[in-house]
Amino acid sequence: MKKLFLILLLSPLLLLAQSSVTLQVLGSGGPESGDKRASSSYVIWIDGKSKILIDFGGGASLRFEEAGARIQDLDLILLTHLHVDHTADLPALLKSSFFTGASGNLQLFGPDKNKFMPNTKIFVKRLFENDKGAWQYLEDHLDGSARLQLKAHNIKKSKKESVVYKQGDIKITAVSVHHGPIPAIAYRVDIGKKSITFSGDMNGDYHTLEKLGFKTNILVMHNAVPKNAKGVAAQLHMTPLIIGEIVRKAKAGSVVISHRMLRTLGKEEETKKEIHKNYKGKVTFANDRSRYKIK
Ligand SMILES: [Zn+2]
Repeated sequence: MKKLFLILLLSPLLLLAQSSVTLQVLGSGGPESGDKRASSSYVIWIDGKSKILIDFGGGASLRFEEAGARIQDLDLILLTHLHVDHTADLPALLKSSFFTGASGNLQLFGPDKNKFMPNTKIFVKRLFENDKGAWQYLEDHLDGSARLQLKAHNIKKSKKESVVYKQGDIKITAVSVHHGPIPAIAYRVDIGKKSITFSGDMNGDYHTLEKLGFKTNILVMHNAVPKNAKGVAAQLHMTPLIIGEIVRKAKAGSVVISHRMLRTLGKEEETKKEIHKNYKGKVTFANDRSRYKIK
């Protein structure tokens, strides 16, 4: 009885202790120019601070500024894969840190290598390492001399999910997804009892996202191809029907459709219908700067 009384007394305090969490889309487009969208990128706001970035494709740097995000508040960058439309603005972000008070370690996670792609550590070295890097003048962000240090980590290919980061009430879980021949990772970000899960680019063949995103508050799904996509497009990306199947199995609270391309833009009604064949919940189409607060 005493215990119950204590729980009742403390429960409003526990509610208050939950962080405020908002997903903001920085880039809702893909690699095309002409979609009038920045390429793939998201920021997670925790208690009003821009803490976590997921992907940082072309145009994301400008959207980051427009959103009022600050590099000095960032703890983590999660790269779903190393294609240009998910990584191109990273050098711009790192350079911009020079003009801020950003310091400490900025952790960067991404996939391991295969014969088509370097691993995330090598990718970063090829960008910034002394003598080898394209922007070798920024190597002080790798060698310990600049205030802000970029710490890259490779995530091994695995269909079994693993926790790659845990600090305070933030937990990052990763699992491999199938994106044709390209190593690709889906991430689940848990902040206390709230969570957001990111598909990245994938076609659903590994059947790993359903479990990773189980009962997540928001599942962000990439809609790069329309209904009836075939061949290479369907090897790389999930059709709207597959999106619906995964979201249903995951029992996600809501789904945000992003990575919208010319071949899917304007087909929202058709896409929604396809998704609703499997999933009856809320479907929202993302735009650059869209915000989704987790209640
Ligand atoms: Zn992409």
